[in-house]
Amino acid sequence: MQSQKRALITGGAGFLGSHLCDRYLSEGYHVICMDNLLTGSERNIEHLFGNSNFEFIKHDVTNYVYVKGSLDLILHFASPASPIDYLEMPIQTLKVGSLGTHKVLGLAKEKNARFLLASTSEVYGDPEVHPQKENYWGNVNPIGLRGVYDEAKRFAEAMTMAYHRYHGIETRIARIFNTYGSRMRLKDGRALPTFMRQALRGNPLTVFGDGSQSRSFTYVDDLIEGIFRLSQSDISDPVNIGNPEEVSIIDFARKIIEITGSKSEIVYKPLPEDDPKIRQPDISKAKAELGWEPKVKLDDGLRETLKYFKVQVQNTGKDEKTD
Ligand code: UDP
Repeated sequence: MQSQKRALITGGAGFLGSHLCDRYLSEGYHVICMDNLLTGSERNIEHLFGNSNFEFIKHDVTNYVYVKGSLDLILHFASPASPIDYLEMPIQTLKVGSLGTHKVLGLAKEKNARFLLASTSEVYGDPEVHPQKENYWGNVNPIGLRGVYDEAKRFAEAMTMAYHRYHGIETRIARIFNTYGSRMRLKDGRALPTFMRQALRGNPLTVFGDGSQSRSFTYVDDLIEGIFRLSQSDISDPVNIGNPEEVSIIDFARKIIEITGSKSEIVYKPLPEDDPKIRQPDISKAKAELGWEPKVKLDDGLRETLKYFKVQVQNTGKDEKTD
C-alpha cells in the first residue's frame, strides 16, 4: 500500500493557505500548516484542530525550518500579501520572500519534496504589455513602495529556478492574480474587503485615483483548483493563475454597492504610488497545459463572499474605526 502523502503549507493560516489546507486534506494528504500568524489567523484553521491528518506549527520561515518526518510537497505561501501589509512590514516582506524562500527550498532539497512557490502578478509591475503572458519580464520600480513585495517575489522566483537547475529540485511557480473569497481580513486594505466593509456599514467607498485602473479578480475556489492542478503537473516554468474577466475599480465598487444593496456613495482618494494601471492574465498556458480555467463569474463569487463579510462586519461591530 502506498503511504499517505505529506504536504507542508507555509502561510497555512492565511487567506489562501488555509483554503489550501482544506483542499489537500480532502485529497487525502497529511497537512502540516506553518505560520507565524503575522497576517494569518488561527481562526482560519481552527475547524481543522483535532483532525489527526492536520498539524499546526507556529514558526517564522525566515528562521531555520525544521519539520519531522518525510515531505512530498511544499506549498510556499508565507508572505504579507496586501499593499497595506507590505507597506507596514517592508522588511518582513523582503525577508520572507528572500530568506524564507531560501530556507524552505533548503527543506525541499533535504526532504526531496516538490516545491510550489506562490508568486504573483506583481512580478509584472505596472505592465506595458496587456494582457500579461508568462514570457513578459515586467516593469517594476525596485525602490518604490511596492518594490519590497514585487522584488521579493522576483527574487523568490529566481531562487526557485536556481534550486531547480542547480540542485534538480522539482519546482512549480504559480503567478497568482488578485483573488477574493472568505477568510480575507476585513481590514487588510485590499479593494474587496474594504469596499465590502464600507458598503455593509453604509459608509462611502474609497476609490483610489479616478477608478479607471483595472484588475481581474479570481474567486478563491477557482484559484485553489489551479494551484492543485499545477502542483500535480510537471511544469517548472511559471504559470499565470487568474481570471481574465477584467473590471475597472470604479465598476468594481459600483458592483459591490449593488450586490450589498447599500446606499453608500463613492469618494475619491489619491492613487497610491506605483499602483498598476491595468492587469489581466493571459491564461492560455494554464488552459493548454493544466486544462484549467476559472468557472465562477464575478457576480456569483461576490455574492458568495458577501455571506462571509456580513458575519465579519457583524462580529466586529462598531467599536473599531467606522469606515
Ligand atoms: N483600491 C481602491 N480603494 C481601496 C483599496 C484599493 O480604489 O480602498 C484600488 C487600488 O488602488 C488598486 C485596486 O483597488 O488600484 C486593487 O487594490 P488591491 O489593494 O486590492 O490590490 P493590488 O492589485 O493593488 O495589489
